[in-house]
Amino acid sequence: MNIYGKTLNELEDYFLGIGEKKFKAIQVYDWLYKKRVHSFDEMTNVKKSVTEKLKEDFNMNKLNILRVQNGKDVHKYLFELDDGQKVEAVLMIHDYGNSLCVSTQVGCNMGCAFCESGRLKKVRNLETYEMVLQLLMVEEDLKLRISHVVLMGIGEPFDNYDNVMRFIDIINSDYGISIGARHITVSTCGVVPKIKEFTREKRQVNLAISLHAPNDKLRSKLMKINKVYPLNEVMEAVEEYLRVTNRKVTFEYIMLDGINDSDECAIELASLLKGLTAYVNLIPYNETSHIGFKKTSKNKIMHFYDILKKNKINVTVRKEFGSEVSAACGQLRSNFEEGK
Ligand code: SAH
Repeated sequence: MNIYGKTLNELEDYFLGIGEKKFKAIQVYDWLYKKRVHSFDEMTNVKKSVTEKLKEDFNMNKLNILRVQNGKDVHKYLFELDDGQKVEAVLMIHDYGNSLCVSTQVGCNMGCAFCESGRLKKVRNLETYEMVLQLLMVEEDLKLRISHVVLMGIGEPFDNYDNVMRFIDIINSDYGISIGARHITVSTCGVVPKIKEFTREKRQVNLAISLHAPNDKLRSKLMKINKVYPLNEVMEAVEEYLRVTNRKVTFEYIMLDGINDSDECAIELASLLKGLTAYVNLIPYNETSHIGFKKTSKNKIMHFYDILKKNKINVTVRKEFGSEVSAACGQLRSNFEEGK
């Protein structure tokens, strides 16, 4: 078992289980996440009998960095996992900090028409440690600290719910990597039962919903999940989330040329979101060679933005990152698989 997959509570239980004091877990966390040692032997304030036991029960194996692509303000990593599977993580340098986009699954079964990740179907969920290590390894490689984490890489976080929540516990822990909950964003294509479960947890983590269309007809064409959980169910779950948590929600909206970027779409979107404490994040589409969709022009995005603003919707346009480094979700992995 890889030790980077253990939450602090689990590690405390482990120590109690082997007849040790539970504060040992905090000591070990300190070595793993504050001092960042690479072996149990370096944990010098932990007695030898305990480190020997730790070595029997856990490993500290890392991921293999297969490829790094560096662009302006963006660093894209392709990792190889123990079983040879591959996932990506992308580090983006913002003026407010360093944000890492983390993958949660190998491939994805959600089947969104515009998305590169879903072209390669889900092979498996990522283990918690495989998410934690994406972060640790990027920090070590670039010699910087990550201040924000977005769960927007390959995969659907709410299709790997338990491991994702444990990942959040580990990076959020004050004794661990200590990334503030409000600096963590989990993004879902709209898995309604899991939105409800997430609501009940009352975490301070941000929730983002991939909306991409203001009505069922269009959304079902773009996103298979909409046939299972149509818009009214998603919106109902979001309203409940807002009521219970008093937080805001971000709606992501990819701008696809001639598909979902008309004035009518903007007006329909504004009326769908009217009165909600919500933000719309307009996302310039990252074109990929495998999929026919084209990106909406900058002018047209700003026109769409203006319509939303006029209708009193909070809206931002996402800064474009990494089109020069194949940053479209899942693109590095699928290029690699094709030998490019
Ligand atoms: N499955 C989750 C999280 C991963 S996708 C979700 O759907 O939210 C993260 C975001 O990237 C989603 O909003 C997704 O629709 C978007 N995305 C996918 N492909 C993209 C592309 N080529 N260009 C821009 N954004 C893309």
